[in-house]
Amino acid sequence: MTESPDSESAARLCSACGMCCNGVLFHGMAVQPEDSVRAFAAKGLKAKRRDGELQFLQPCPAHEGNCCRIYADRPQRCRVFACRQLEGVSLGKIPESAALEKIQEARRLTDRVRDLLDKLGDSRTTRPLATRCAGVFTPPLDPSPQAKSWRDELRLAMTDLEEFLANNFRPQHP
Ligand code: SF4
Ligand code: SF4
Repeated sequence: MTESPDSESAARLCSACGMCCNGVLFHGMAVQPEDSVRAFAAKGLKAKRRDGELQFLQPCPAHEGNCCRIYADRPQRCRVFACRQLEGVSLGKIPESAALEKIQEARRLTDRVRDLLDKLGDSRTTRPLATRCAGVFTPPLDPSPQAKSWRDELRLAMTDLEEFLANNFRPQHP
């Protein structure tokens, strides 16, 4: 998602990242009055009521190859959203190279979480990352020492990822 469609810099950042579309940062994005739920359903976007509001679910099915296949017609929330890295680069407060390094680190932390989910047998790649993690901690739990060790690792990996996202990506004033 980006609010600066003409910015080559924004395009480079978002195509290297995709976290606000692929279920790493969000479970969903709020449907806005300008959005036609029916029109977006025809494009593959599912909407569901959650936390008191209607949301398009993530991971977004329009996110393909780290690009938005409906970019010109994307929902309103996608048009206005900018994470802290994108906002910082757009305002000239963060060098693009520094933002790309943050993205690389976020991807490394995310890969660590995904690797542990794979080891623990969770293959639900169409669900948000936090939902997948919650599922792994829902009883009945595999009592084997190996599974316990992986769950402990996953807990730490999720904490590291969440802290990193909170400090570097999530908007301070959503
Ligand atoms: S999280 Fe930021 S850099 Fe990543 S795709 Fe979204 S707006 Fe772009
Ligand atoms: S519609 Fe496009 S910009 Fe919006 S979440 Fe989906 S892939 Fe991302």
